[in-house]
Amino acid sequence: MENSMIEDIVRQVIEDLKKDEEISFESQTKNSMNNYGVFDNMDEAIDAADRAQKQLYELSLDERDRFANVIRKTILKEDNLNLMSVMAVEETKIGRVSDKKIKNRVAAQKTPGKEDLKTNALTGANGLMIEEYCPFGVIGSITPTTNPTETIISNSISMIVGGNAVVFSPHPRAKKTSILLIQMLNKALVENGAPENLITMVKEPSIEATNEMMKNPKVRLLVATGGPGIVKTVLSSGKKAIGAGAGNPPVVVDETADIKKAAKDIVDGSSFDNNVPCIAEKEVFVVETKADDLIYYMRQNGAYLLDNETDIKNLDELVSQENGKPKTEFVGKDAKYILEKIGIEVSEDIRLIIFKTNKYHHLVQEEMMMPILPVVPVPNVDEAIECAHEAEHGNRHTAIMHSKNVDKLSKMAKLLECTIFVKNAPSYSGIGVGGEGSTTFTIAGPTGEGITSAKSFCRIRRCVIKDSFNIR
Ligand code: NAD
Repeated sequence: MENSMIEDIVRQVIEDLKKDEEISFESQTKNSMNNYGVFDNMDEAIDAADRAQKQLYELSLDERDRFANVIRKTILKEDNLNLMSVMAVEETKIGRVSDKKIKNRVAAQKTPGKEDLKTNALTGANGLMIEEYCPFGVIGSITPTTNPTETIISNSISMIVGGNAVVFSPHPRAKKTSILLIQMLNKALVENGAPENLITMVKEPSIEATNEMMKNPKVRLLVATGGPGIVKTVLSSGKKAIGAGAGNPPVVVDETADIKKAAKDIVDGSSFDNNVPCIAEKEVFVVETKADDLIYYMRQNGAYLLDNETDIKNLDELVSQENGKPKTEFVGKDAKYILEKIGIEVSEDIRLIIFKTNKYHHLVQEEMMMPILPVVPVPNVDEAIECAHEAEHGNRHTAIMHSKNVDKLSKMAKLLECTIFVKNAPSYSGIGVGGEGSTTFTIAGPTGEGITSAKSFCRIRRCVIKDSFNIR
C-alpha cells in the first residue's frame, strides 16, 4: 500500500479515536474512577503516582522489568506506533511520520531494562558490602515538543525499571498526544497487573502546573529534556535534577573521508525527523578541497543547493525571528514546504536545504531544528575542528566527524568533550539507530548522566553486614 494511503487510513482512525478518547476521558474524569493516569490537577497526579510507587516498591525487580516489557509490547503494536507517530506530527506540526515511527520503535526496543542495574558487591575480612540502585520515588519529568512520545516511552521504561513512578509535564503543544500515550500505557500496565497510575500527567499541562510539580515535596527528582531555559529552571529548583539540554551538533569532514558515504550519512542524519533531534547534524565544516565533491554527493542524496545570495538571505529571514531564534512555525517542517515559501518548487525527494557560507553565518551558529544545513569550506582539518568547537558553543552535546585519520578523530573528540561523538556515520547511530548501544531521548550533558537509563534515575544505597558472608 502507498505510504500516503496508510497515512489517510491512520488519520481517519485517529479522528475516530479522538472522539472516543474525549468521550471516555470525560466520563472517566466525571466519576473519577479510572482516568488511566490523567488528572484534573497536579496534586492529584502526584498523589496518585506516589501511591503507585509505594506499591511498585513492594514488587521485585523482575516484576518491574515485566512492566517495562508491557510498555515495549504496547508501543511496538503496529497500530499504536502509527497512531502516536501520526498524532505527534499532526498536533505539534513538527517532524515526519516515518521518522517518528523509527524513533518510537527504537525507544521501545533499545531503552535498557533491569540489566542496567548492576549491584556492586565487595567481600573481605570484615564481611560483605553491597551497593544497589534504588528508586527516588516520584520523578517529575518535563518533556519537549520535538520528541513528545519518544521521551515519554523511554523515560517511562527507565524510571519504572528503577522502581519509580513518574509525573510527566509535557509541552502544552503536545498535550493530546501525551494524554493518548499515557492512557494507552497505563491501561496496558493495569491490565497486566501493574499498580494504577505509575505514569501520570495533568489534563491541561502549563508552565504553572510544571512549577507546582517542581515545588511539590513528594517529587524527589526532576528531569528536564528541553532548551536552556527549562534546564536552568530545574537546576535552580533546590532539588536533585537531571538536565538534558540543547545542542548545535557540528560535522567535520576531512580529506581522508569517504566523501560519497559521508555525504549520504550527513543528509540522512540531518534530515532525520526534519532535523529536530537535538543530536542531528546542524552545520558542516569541510576541508575546501573536498567541499564541491561533498555537495555534489549530498545533492544526489536528497539535498537541494541554494546557490545565490538572495535565496540564502530570503531563507534566513523567512525562518528566523528578529532576535535570531527560530520561528516556531518553521521548526521541524519539510524542506519542500520551506523552499516553497521562498518561491522554489522541488519534488518530494528533497529532504534537506544546503548552501555554502562562512562560519559566522547566523544559521551556522544558531540551533534552528529545521532541515537547513549550512556547509562551510575551511582550509584544513585543524581549522575545521576549531570552527566546530566554536559552533558547538560548549554545549558538549553531540558532534560528528567523517575521517579515517585516527589522530584527528581523537583530537576532535577530546576538544569538544561531547556526550555523543559519532565517527563515519549519521548522527542517529549515536542513539542506537543503526549503531551499537542503547537508546534514550534524554541526553543529559549538563548534569553528566549522559545517555540516561534506569540507573540514571536511581539513588545508590549501601548495605553492610559485618563479619559474615565472606565465604572464601
Ligand atoms: P522547550 O525548552 O521550549 O520546552 C521543553 C519543555 O520545557 C516543555 O515541556 C515546555 O513546556 C517546558 N518549559 C519551557 N520553559 C519553561 C518554563 N519557563 N517553565 C516551565 N516549563 C517550561 O524546548 P522544545 O522546543 O520543546 O524542545 C527543543 C529543545 O530541546 C532544543 O533546544 C533541543 O536541543 C532540546 N532537546 C534536548 C534533548 C536532550 O536529550 N538533550 C532532547 C530533546 C530536545
